[in-house]
Amino acid sequence: MTISGRRSPLAMAGTPMREEDGLRPVELVTDRLETPSLDDRKYRVIRLPNQLEVLLVHDPETDKASAAMDVNVGSFSDEDDMPGMAHAVEHLLFMGTKKYPAENEYQKYLSAHSGSSNAYTGSTNTNYYFEVSAKPSNDEEPSATNPSALLGALDRFAQFFVEPLFLASTLDRELLAVDSENKKNLQSDQWRMHQLEKSLSNPKHPFCHFSTGNLETLKTLPEARGINVRDKFIEFYEKNYSANRMKLCVLGREPLDVLESWVSEYFSDVKNKDLKPNRWADEVPLPKDLLGIQCFAKPVMDSRELNLIFPFLDEEFLYESQPSRYISHLIGHEGPGSIMAYVKSMGWANGLSAGAYPVSPGTPGLFDCQIRLTEEGLQNYKEIIKVFFQYVALLRETEPQEWIFEEQKGMADVDFKFKQKTPASRFTSKISSQMHKPLPREWLLTLGSKLRKFDAKLIKEGIACLRPDNFRVTIVSRDMPGSWDKKEKWYGTEHSYETIPDDFMEEIRRAAACPAKDRVAKLHLPHKNQFIPTKLEVEKKDVKEPAVAPRIVRNDELCRTWYKKDDTFWVPKANLIVSCKSPIIYASAENSVKARLFTDLVRDALEEYSYDADLAGLQYSVALDSRGLFIEVSGYNDKLPVLLEQVLITMRDLEVRDDRFNIIKERLSRGYRNWELQQPWQQIGDYSAWLTAEHDHVVEELAAELPDIAADAVRQFRKELLSQMHMEIHVHGNLYKEDALKLTDMIESTLKPRKLPRTQWPIQRSLIFPPGSNYIWKKTLKDPGNVNHCIDYWLYVGDKADRHLRAKTLLLDQIVHEPCFDHLRTKEQLGYIVYSSCRASATTYGFRFIIQSEKTAPYLETRIEAFLVSMATAIREMSDEEFEKHKRSLIVKRLEKPKHLDQETSRHWSQIQSEYYDFESAQRDAAHIRPLTKSDMVGFFNQYIHPASPSRAKLAVYFVAQAKSDVSTKQITELVKTLNLNSDDASAQAATDLQARLSAADHDVKKEVEGLKDYLLHVLKVPEGKIDAAIEAWKKIHEQQNGLANGIVKDADPPSSNGTKPFFIEDVRTFKAGLVVSAGARPVKDLSEYEDLDPKL
Ligand SMILES: [Zn+2]
Repeated sequence: MTISGRRSPLAMAGTPMREEDGLRPVELVTDRLETPSLDDRKYRVIRLPNQLEVLLVHDPETDKASAAMDVNVGSFSDEDDMPGMAHAVEHLLFMGTKKYPAENEYQKYLSAHSGSSNAYTGSTNTNYYFEVSAKPSNDEEPSATNPSALLGALDRFAQFFVEPLFLASTLDRELLAVDSENKKNLQSDQWRMHQLEKSLSNPKHPFCHFSTGNLETLKTLPEARGINVRDKFIEFYEKNYSANRMKLCVLGREPLDVLESWVSEYFSDVKNKDLKPNRWADEVPLPKDLLGIQCFAKPVMDSRELNLIFPFLDEEFLYESQPSRYISHLIGHEGPGSIMAYVKSMGWANGLSAGAYPVSPGTPGLFDCQIRLTEEGLQNYKEIIKVFFQYVALLRETEPQEWIFEEQKGMADVDFKFKQKTPASRFTSKISSQMHKPLPREWLLTLGSKLRKFDAKLIKEGIACLRPDNFRVTIVSRDMPGSWDKKEKWYGTEHSYETIPDDFMEEIRRAAACPAKDRVAKLHLPHKNQFIPTKLEVEKKDVKEPAVAPRIVRNDELCRTWYKKDDTFWVPKANLIVSCKSPIIYASAENSVKARLFTDLVRDALEEYSYDADLAGLQYSVALDSRGLFIEVSGYNDKLPVLLEQVLITMRDLEVRDDRFNIIKERLSRGYRNWELQQPWQQIGDYSAWLTAEHDHVVEELAAELPDIAADAVRQFRKELLSQMHMEIHVHGNLYKEDALKLTDMIESTLKPRKLPRTQWPIQRSLIFPPGSNYIWKKTLKDPGNVNHCIDYWLYVGDKADRHLRAKTLLLDQIVHEPCFDHLRTKEQLGYIVYSSCRASATTYGFRFIIQSEKTAPYLETRIEAFLVSMATAIREMSDEEFEKHKRSLIVKRLEKPKHLDQETSRHWSQIQSEYYDFESAQRDAAHIRPLTKSDMVGFFNQYIHPASPSRAKLAVYFVAQAKSDVSTKQITELVKTLNLNSDDASAQAATDLQARLSAADHDVKKEVEGLKDYLLHVLKVPEGKIDAAIEAWKKIHEQQNGLANGIVKDADPPSSNGTKPFFIEDVRTFKAGLVVSAGARPVKDLSEYEDLDPKL
């Protein structure tokens, strides 16, 4: 695999001035941008008098308007003794502005207009973006006099860069949000390994920074040094935020002139301090003395990896030739002759990727190659490194090949020419971050993806960086060497490192200087790529109204083929999906695992062959879906049949080799183990799905079957599986009906299955939760180092096909979404992952909350219920105007058009796969939302959602963490109870603050007591008499609880305010046996209405 690094910077100067309203001269930089061939947007790059550069985009079709601001400052600018400053400023910037002082004003406004927002902090940039409904509330085209919600959003957004308040009252909470964001990442190997690489680099280059920050670096330690941290953040903002360092992108339906006048009005007030662009040219991340090192690192997950990293060229100004693209194309190749093909044939590797990435302006980039190892590969890592250097020797002595460059350039041109739109905020966010690069403004939209100049000399210079004296290596594994003597400072990653031993270095040097005759004979450059598409014609027609549903062009007991000729996007691409229904796959956990092994082996066998197709924009997948086997081929339609045929033949003729089977089985077994080490919130949904489905298997059940499955069993199973099935096919894109039928014939004649009689097609069903259900299922998490608990709190609503109930649940989600985040995350700071959403099973519908937190699940449940009680009042007291706004906002979201072909295909497919075939579901939902009244919603809420409702039905999944955070939630809760605060809000606030302060005291009773006194007296303003009582209570709690792990402490029973008693599920089978099963999924209308079986075209 080849990873292309982010490309690089400069601005064009000297263009005519224009007088906008006589007062504000706006400079037109250019309006001639290179665009994809089907792009119907209009673009204009301008510069305001304060030197803020802006890309304006008029998109006549977009549902969403958006803006993104990218500020050229990030964690590289953090002060050394306060890591995470840039990130903290990113969080705090949202907390009120002079013009709009309420802290959630911006979010509230966006939420009421179908919008949302986000931000991130990079090493040299901070990016803020939002999106919002693109049409005014009267649904007419927006204009200067009839503006869309974009106008109000721009006004609010601009104030963050004009006059933010950094509200003191929000400071501690936002720093806690940063802290829990960091805690969320602590067990992630991706974060851990990246930081290890950074921490082991030159301390004089900011590459070594810890970018996220935590409570200690941002509050406790600086405060202990007498620093007022809020002042520090404001100082950082003042020092680094300046209009000339910002790039803005605004996209809307309004004409460019209107957008320009708005931007000029709101953003001209952003102060220009004429700051210099950030550059780091004095030091490099990996100087000589940090090279020639081998590092061993222990991951959390059971994974094995070999990473080679080389200081590389500075490609900032090389955007026309980009030499690293040629080099990573060859090093990362997986076809015949490649490093990957060879190490895989030896049974050493499961994957390989290579690429160069920039570090920062002024600093040379880094080139890295990552190889995912098998057990054998780990033993042979030295051999792999030698093979790598032999291949580099081959590259060094072969003149750079212009035909290879031309192949790459050709594909990059085709990809840009037929590039489809991305969602509005993804587009603005991405492009604003790229505007700092020195790309000529005319080429901005290519994001530097195009290659323009073959430069053999630069390619040779790049290859010359890949030398034995210019690299270091990291070996990631839980077994080698078995003990590690160092711990990384921020994530605690265990590791050790040493100079590469002389004898090994000598072998590497020999490999790198190896003449052709001594090299591994199988290494050679790739052949010409046969998959490069040559037929790229699209017959574009005028279409009044695009068809909503595909048609059925064949329907019998063997195949049902759905087909839609693309009538919207006009790209030379297509998607083909085959779902093979079979009753045997999910008949048992054992069969599921055999089926999974079969699909893994098919993909393994196709790897070398399909790599060229992948490079040429043609992908495939063979996997399992809810009904059986799932095959997909997608991309440029020209060579699509060629790839499809090879995939089918491989499935049919697969020879299950013992050596490959063992490697794949070991990989799957690790995959299962690692699955349970993921973040709790990523796992929890699978368990709720399992507990609400009639038939389903969770990972423990699958993992238990795996050890007993041998290669022979899979050989046998493959025959059974492919011998009888019903295939449902969907063909969508730049293909004709005749093509769809021919492809169906090819699938049939290649696989040759017997038909599966209709009576044997599996039926999908879910469990029904009767009124008053109150179930809890509990599981202790596997990762011993994880401190986060998790809850999935799910309320059953009813039948998925009941459109009235669906409409109300969707509207509930719309109304609850923003307050849920505001209450449970922003105010109560329960954790970084907090969200609510609708959740559908195969045939039922419900509403859920997921929270991942250091606080225990029963406590989280009390907070969710308190929040729901407050929502009952909020809905009852909501003004009619606000209620209508919510409805409108939801309808706009529901009716959003697909942005590209794949999105439309997956919408069709989700209807086909679910077997409801409800292709008009969005329009129907909208029609059912429109007439809803407030009293409908109050009634719905009181029956299905309100914690006091005796008829509501609940299932909660509790995940219990093994490790504990510093101070337990239970301790804090007890302490807060002794304070007798008079409101829930105040209690939640106190709990949050105390958790932070007491954690920081690090179990030193004296420090704890001092901090506590100070807080109660000065912040909470508690009367002195009460304070002594609280201190006494705390001392007692401290003694009692010390040493007890938070997760293991026995919690009080969860709340129950509707009179039902919570039932802890001990035996899942008994629990399921006690519930009634739903009717199966059925088509919303007779499928014959979709039939178009006439063989004529
Ligand atoms: Zn953050």
